[in-house]
Amino acid sequence: MEVEVAVFRDYEFPLDKPVNFYLVRAGSVSVLVDTGTGRTLSTQALNPSVVVLTHYHWDHSGGLVPLARSGRGALRVCASRRTIEQLSRPSWVLEHMETVGRAVGLRAGPGERAFAEAMYSRYSAISEAASALGVEEVGECLSKMGVVADWLECPGHSDDHICVELGRHLFVGDNIIGSPNVTLSNTYKYFESMTLALARPSFATVHPGHGPGALTRTDAASLLVETMRRKRRRLALAIAAAARGGGRWVGLDEVYRTVYPAPPNPVVAWVAARSLLGYLASLESDGVVEVDRSRSPWRVRLMG
Ligand SMILES: [Zn+2]
Repeated sequence: MEVEVAVFRDYEFPLDKPVNFYLVRAGSVSVLVDTGTGRTLSTQALNPSVVVLTHYHWDHSGGLVPLARSGRGALRVCASRRTIEQLSRPSWVLEHMETVGRAVGLRAGPGERAFAEAMYSRYSAISEAASALGVEEVGECLSKMGVVADWLECPGHSDDHICVELGRHLFVGDNIIGSPNVTLSNTYKYFESMTLALARPSFATVHPGHGPGALTRTDAASLLVETMRRKRRRLALAIAAAARGGGRWVGLDEVYRTVYPAPPNPVVAWVAARSLLGYLASLESDGVVEVDRSRSPWRVRLMG
């Protein structure tokens, strides 16, 4: 199938670099892969027949708000079941902040609270738009649209993440961006899912969620390798910190200080804490550590 891919970019605070989204024309169907923050779509009618979301994050799903407002009845929106769930419950933003703070013993100041409230209202608007448009589960949704498209679960950057293949193009969302600084919700799942995704023989070009609009297979694989290298170092530091307790419990605040000795400001401190929970989830699911979440900060113990 011959397809044509056009890249669009949105930038809004607090993104550190613009987000990419893509309009893919395949025969008579046009597919929007992600929607940007909503900035472009509120001024420019791209008239897609289908939207596919790679994951729920606001910079990828925010365009649902202007799409819902323009009230086009024929639009079909496809996403993974987990993305649909996440979009239906915007309160996760506030709960997540509580959890991260509790886990490593960080207290949210007024700035962080205001930021979380702002994100909560953003996600609430996206959630309303998603329910107005009606988001369908990706498998059935794509099969109904008359385009040969394939999708696969790509957990890593977020648990709900999918990759979408259209023609010879693989859309990887935020699992591969233009640099190795990807934040991950589960490091090991990321290694596995992206190794499998990039091993698919069928695509020629990779389209990332930030950074360049297109990468060759080789460039994408190099970025993946570089990302893995960095994450392995953090994982090793986390294991070393947990190992300091011998077989006894170690506070996650202590692990946090070992892995991230000097976050330059509160924003980075919170992002780092969130990343640490991603490493922890990986180590826990591989049976390397045991986690006690019953108190704040959480505690970890190296498994024998
Ligand atoms: Zn993201």
